Amino acid sequence: MMTSSQLMERESQLLCSTYARYPLAVSRGEGMNLYTPEGERYTDLLSGIAVCALGHCHPEVTAAICAQAGTLVHVSNLLYHEAQLVLAEKLLATAPGMERAFFCNSGAEANEGAIKLARRFMREVRGQDRFRIITLSGSFHGRTLATLTATGQDKVKIGFGPLPEGFTTVPFGDTDALAAAMDEHTAAVLVEPIQGEGGVRPLPADYAAAMQRLCREQGVLLVCDEIQTGMGRTGHFWAYQGLGLTPDIITIAKGIAGGLPMGAVLTTAQIAQGFPAGSHGTTFGGNALVSRVAATVLDIIERDGLVARAAQLGTWLKERLQVVAQKHPGRIQEVRGAGLMVGIELTTPGKAVWQELLARRYLVNLTQDTVLRLLPPLIVDESHLEGFCIALEEALAATAPTGAAPTSFDNPRNSL
Ligand SMILES: *Cc1c(COP(=O)(O)O)cnc(C)c1O
Repeated sequence: MMTSSQLMERESQLLCSTYARYPLAVSRGEGMNLYTPEGERYTDLLSGIAVCALGHCHPEVTAAICAQAGTLVHVSNLLYHEAQLVLAEKLLATAPGMERAFFCNSGAEANEGAIKLARRFMREVRGQDRFRIITLSGSFHGRTLATLTATGQDKVKIGFGPLPEGFTTVPFGDTDALAAAMDEHTAAVLVEPIQGEGGVRPLPADYAAAMQRLCREQGVLLVCDEIQTGMGRTGHFWAYQGLGLTPDIITIAKGIAGGLPMGAVLTTAQIAQGFPAGSHGTTFGGNALVSRVAATVLDIIERDGLVARAAQLGTWLKERLQVVAQKHPGRIQEVRGAGLMVGIELTTPGKAVWQELLARRYLVNLTQDTVLRLLPPLIVDESHLEGFCIALEEALAATAPTGAAPTSFDNPRNSL
């Protein structure tokens, strides 16, 4: 087995350097833990970016992979097979109103499918010349040409033009700007209920309500990108449920199949008429292996009550982080998010704090330069989160600007 330093050295000689990787190599995972080739243990509060929702190598997920791998892996979508139907039935049951599923292989591909479906439904079913997709500043929708165009951040677009037409980005949270951007050519608003990569930014409730109303009034589809927020992460099965939204199309990926690559588009029977035979497709989408595993993941989330648990643990964690913030005045700007999708916005760039956390063997993500993002497996428990909070306090203390020593609650100065 290669050592960590061998892995890091060979990577740059063998792979496109598209990823700014962390200085961490892993060779094994179990539950909440990741292990380096040298056997050091890290607590994983990122779960492969919200993918390993049941932690690493969950025994029942492993068993489902093995059982299906020995029965049927892939037949293409030219044939019927049961696993896809079992999964569709379970997944649609989590989203009342949704009646049809389309399976694909990633988040970008799910959003690409949703964009194509919205346009084709408008043109071919409604007979309207609606094609424009409105998205929000700060959003992240993927890396294909259409989804990077939809993404409300310039950094993903550099050097990739010409970009597809028919996309408009409006400022996050600005109802007037949204209303002004909608016209007779608007097909859909594509939105993350809580922006993930954009820094764990939840849609303000009144803005979400206005968005829903504008879509209804103007005959525009509301597409919720639940690629990161779905599968129970936010303490609701879908984050839109926490905002009282009624989407016409939902996209999901990341956590859906316990680590295997899969995405899905969910919609109503009426809108699904926009996707007749031959209009869209993918070779691997919803193959027997990933579908069986995703169905198993759904069963476990339901059986173990992991959605309610995400809500409870999230509430506990946010309160606990407020205590950390008060003990380290001037360091934490805001704690945001829902359930087990939590952002800790620091007042200054967070690289040093993040490094101190990694040195204490807690794996989290740093996004938008100042936001520590936690996306732990849904099987996390309070002891892991408490351990993280202690490590965070140490990391804040270790990186405190000189002269700004941390205070504590029992420090009498705090009562002044
Ligand atoms: C990760 C993500 C995507 C892209 O998913 P990929 O599987 O990387 O293509 C799209 N939207 C959101 C909200 C995401 O978090």
